[in-house]
Amino acid sequence: MSIRQKALFKVKSVALDKINTPKKVSGYFGENTFSLDTMRKHISKDTFEAFKRWMSQGSTITLGQANEIAEAMKEWAMAKGATYYTHWFQPMTGLTAEKHDSFISMVSPGKVIEKFSGNKLIQGEPDASSFPSGGIRATFEARGYTAWDPSSPAFIIESALGKTLCIPSIFISYHGEALDKKLPLLRSDEALNKAAVGLLKIFGRKDVRKVFSTCGPEQEYFLIDKHFYNLRQDLLMAGRTLIGAPSPKGQQLEDQYFGTIKERVVNFMFELAQEAYKLGIPIMTRHNEVAPHQYEFAPIFEESNIAADHNQLLMELMKKVALRHDMVCLLHEKPFAGINGSGKHLNWSLSDDNGNNLLNPGETPEDNLQFLTILAAVLRAVYLHADLLRASIAMAGNEHRLGANEAPPAIISVFLGEQLTEVLDMLENGVKAKFSKRDIIDLGIARLPKFNKDSTDRNRTSPFAFTGAKFEFRAVGSSQNISTPITIINTIIAESLDFVASELKRAVNSGKDFNSAVLKVVSSVIKETKKIRFEGNNYSKEWLNEAKKRGLPNIASTYESLKALKKEGNVGLFEKYKVFSKEELIARYHIWIHMYNLTLEIEANTLGEMVNASVVPAGYEYEKLLARTLDEIVRLKKSAGLKIDANALKDKKEHLSEIVNKIYYVRHNTATMGCLLEKACALSSEKRAEVYFKNLKPLMEHIRKHVDQLESVVSDDAWDLPKYREMLFIK
Ligand code: ADP
Ligand code: MG
Repeated sequence: MSIRQKALFKVKSVALDKINTPKKVSGYFGENTFSLDTMRKHISKDTFEAFKRWMSQGSTITLGQANEIAEAMKEWAMAKGATYYTHWFQPMTGLTAEKHDSFISMVSPGKVIEKFSGNKLIQGEPDASSFPSGGIRATFEARGYTAWDPSSPAFIIESALGKTLCIPSIFISYHGEALDKKLPLLRSDEALNKAAVGLLKIFGRKDVRKVFSTCGPEQEYFLIDKHFYNLRQDLLMAGRTLIGAPSPKGQQLEDQYFGTIKERVVNFMFELAQEAYKLGIPIMTRHNEVAPHQYEFAPIFEESNIAADHNQLLMELMKKVALRHDMVCLLHEKPFAGINGSGKHLNWSLSDDNGNNLLNPGETPEDNLQFLTILAAVLRAVYLHADLLRASIAMAGNEHRLGANEAPPAIISVFLGEQLTEVLDMLENGVKAKFSKRDIIDLGIARLPKFNKDSTDRNRTSPFAFTGAKFEFRAVGSSQNISTPITIINTIIAESLDFVASELKRAVNSGKDFNSAVLKVVSSVIKETKKIRFEGNNYSKEWLNEAKKRGLPNIASTYESLKALKKEGNVGLFEKYKVFSKEELIARYHIWIHMYNLTLEIEANTLGEMVNASVVPAGYEYEKLLARTLDEIVRLKKSAGLKIDANALKDKKEHLSEIVNKIYYVRHNTATMGCLLEKACALSSEKRAEVYFKNLKPLMEHIRKHVDQLESVVSDDAWDLPKYREMLFIK
């Protein structure tokens, strides 16, 4: 029996021996977070008020107040059993990072007490030399600082033998450049805030003091049994299968989506939810996704900054909790070929400090004018900066998904839905008629019919779709940190809001009444940006052609998409809104290209090893079996006078030759791949990424094709790598 076959016996469909009595969620939601409410209970009224002012108006707190908060945080965490603390931050790799310190402080030889000060809360100094900086910081200047981000509550991470207080932080260089994903997000929200509040003032909304973006990321993932995972070098090293013959049954019966959730999986989901709720992560919806063993969690939306932290935490929890159930959670964008990959639909909207969703079409005419203006600004932002949106989701994993037949194409377009399109078309054509048939569309005062959510969300193929009262950016990769896409969306929309605001002012100054001024600006934006709107099937061939005619970019590769970060106009945009300096932006460009290269090198080296150490030996086993059988038969034919059809013998010989040749072919191509990798070492990072995309990837695919053919003929006994049908169908 192969080790693979032995693993089959270890799979336990319900791997739990404990019985859990569920508690009422509202009773423990957020219990492991140092929320505002908790803080209020632990510090003086004055300090609490100062903290709130800091959050709402930006006036910082004193060191004394920081000390008081630090002390309160420590007492709270220690009461819950925490003995260590860490600044928790998000370096440019897209993962999270932590460096733990104990609360202990030596007071006399052999005697310690627990201490935590405002200074330690506010600032940490991890050795930054091993984090990518893209040239911002020379290695000798190893210092990087983490700084407390008070807008996201501290939380406690529990493990079986202890607890750690985690303090959400930004990560900056000695000179203050952002070395992480979070500081740019905070800056972009500030830019958005200024622009949106400015625009709302023109609409007479003087009550609004703050506008922020809101996000709800829908997280897709796969679960597979740990025993299979451990036998697959590719999953271990690269997070995706590099070889693997398709299973006869894939997703063609469409019997998985929204199907009954298997008990083992639902147990995982229950435990995950419980862990998430303790940390105040509001996950809400859970269901089976399209591919076998693929699932989704969706949260209730939150302020972007918090949503981004929560999504990072959720991904970590998913991996951790899955293991407790003897499963491994795969967050890669394309773990299995031939079936759907995983994305992260990023639902995005704008909210004011009174809780109004600014992308809600609303009911009153004034609101509608405002809605139309903001909608126009979004259209313009996507139209002008589709390249940046594409760059924000460019990564090795997502390259397998974008443009493949199950995911949004690499062409960025906007879907608005029938009703809204009709309204915009009429605005564009300046029609002033009343449309009484379909509720009310009186363009004189721009009244929209009340939106029926269902009618706005039929198109699931659009990369940037209006879905009721939010936009849904569907091209984000499942493993991605959402901070970068949000940062880009926030910034390009801030710029567009500023643009429509200044156009509005101009129109009003030229003597137009306010409503006509709005309609003029909105209709001109609608005209200008029409090319970006597409209501049809984004997966179709026709759209590829149509988009080409419209001149919309369709960039398949990561290395080319990332070039948007270097474009002069884009650099200027980010500098203007103080989201990235030129240096910070270029650093990101280099880091992401570099990460692409590293990912491909890991994949190629893993593939090479699998071919040479697993596939070929299995092939040889089978070859041996065939050769012996052939030998035996030929001998028996002679000695025992077996009557064997000439064709049958020929077939045996052909089959053996086929296997021998295929093994040779696979080995030969794998050696070529080795040479390609070696040669690529001499190339610049950018050139290397291009070579990897154009030459290495197709070669890896080619090797795979032949390996997969071998897999489907080599005897089951000799094949040690778990097969698709096992990983995806054994529950
Ligand atoms: P659908 O994708 O079917 O339209 P939902 O309305 O349930 O689904 O929303 C999907 C996700 O969108 C959820 O995570 C939800 O929290 C999020 N969402 C809803 N409203 C907003 C909003 N105003 N801003 C950001 N995200 C939102
Ligand atoms: Mg959705």
